[in-house]
Amino acid sequence: MSLVFFLPINKASMKGGFKKLLSKIQSRERMLPTDTVAVKIHPGEEGNSSYVSSDNVNRVIEALALGTDRIFLTDTTVLYPGKRMSAPDYLHLTHEHGFGLPWTPPFIIADGLRGGNETIVKMPEDFQTNEAHIASIISNSDAMVVISHFKGHLLTGFGGALKNLGMGCASRAGKLYQHSSVKPLINTKKCTACGICASHCHVNAISIRSYASINTDICTGCGECLGRCPEGAVRVSWDQNMSVFMRRMIEYAYAAVSVSNPLLYVNFVTSVVPDCDCMKDTNPPFVDDIGILASTDPVAIDMASLDLVTAAPAAINSPVNAGAGTDKFSAYRPEINGILHLSIAESLGLGSMEYELVIV
Ligand code: SF4
Ligand code: SF4
Repeated sequence: MSLVFFLPINKASMKGGFKKLLSKIQSRERMLPTDTVAVKIHPGEEGNSSYVSSDNVNRVIEALALGTDRIFLTDTTVLYPGKRMSAPDYLHLTHEHGFGLPWTPPFIIADGLRGGNETIVKMPEDFQTNEAHIASIISNSDAMVVISHFKGHLLTGFGGALKNLGMGCASRAGKLYQHSSVKPLINTKKCTACGICASHCHVNAISIRSYASINTDICTGCGECLGRCPEGAVRVSWDQNMSVFMRRMIEYAYAAVSVSNPLLYVNFVTSVVPDCDCMKDTNPPFVDDIGILASTDPVAIDMASLDLVTAAPAAINSPVNAGAGTDKFSAYRPEINGILHLSIAESLGLGSMEYELVIV
């Protein structure tokens, strides 16, 4: 059983709260002054406001007192158009969101100019993935700290540390591989031919006549059209696609862990909105802010985060009418079995779904 340390939100703003939480994690003592440490974050898509703020990232780093000043923040480029698609645009965005010098340690794009800088990781023979493509900056660092925002996700139901590892540490080729099992379908009865999905498709796979249709030979499976359709007319055949996608993502999490020496995971269970920080705008949170968790086990910390959200009462403007004791993510997206990605991770030896929650 793994230990997960929990700092309730009312104690997070107290002096020394983060220090108390992170002092429980012993692995940071391994670092030498010459070691480089990657702090994997998600600095938020343009227009997004639910990401973990630079102030909170700084508070984690300061409280960790890693023993080296060679610390940098990092993330990878993405598949869809916007400021996170190439390194120069991405650095403008991180600047706008308060990440990078002079406010935080420097921000370095982990997979290079356009997502092509990668390390090939040979995978075990019984895995579906033969070779994983992990961002080279992550594999070249001496250690990694993974800071995640725990929230909903349109492909995995919810996302935290495992999502940050599996998708967030993959280079462009790795992301394409993971998404390629996800092929959306159009419900022609619901489609009004508004064209919104087509305008957000980065490879022009969607054409509009009397309804939208998707060229699955071109589609990369990025999932952007799912979140964009105002009519809920874009769906994924989850019974066929979901387990493949989640398995691939978790195999990538396994690869990221195997080359990055992760010291610890920190989950912010705050602004628990239905969609990830890749979305420009999202619905209000399911629950009021809960707190911050820390663990050396990425499976246990995500499981504990999910349990805390399930146990919490719904927030006043929650997008689902699901109170204490109900899984809000499943209520919001009943077609997605989010917990599957945790059980796959456990089966691959990434951690344990059983944990002991230690309140700090
Ligand atoms: S966004 Fe939805 S309703 Fe509009 S064209 Fe695409 S599938 Fe049809
Ligand atoms: S059709 Fe949808 S899932 Fe496929 S590439 Fe376009 S936006 Fe992404």
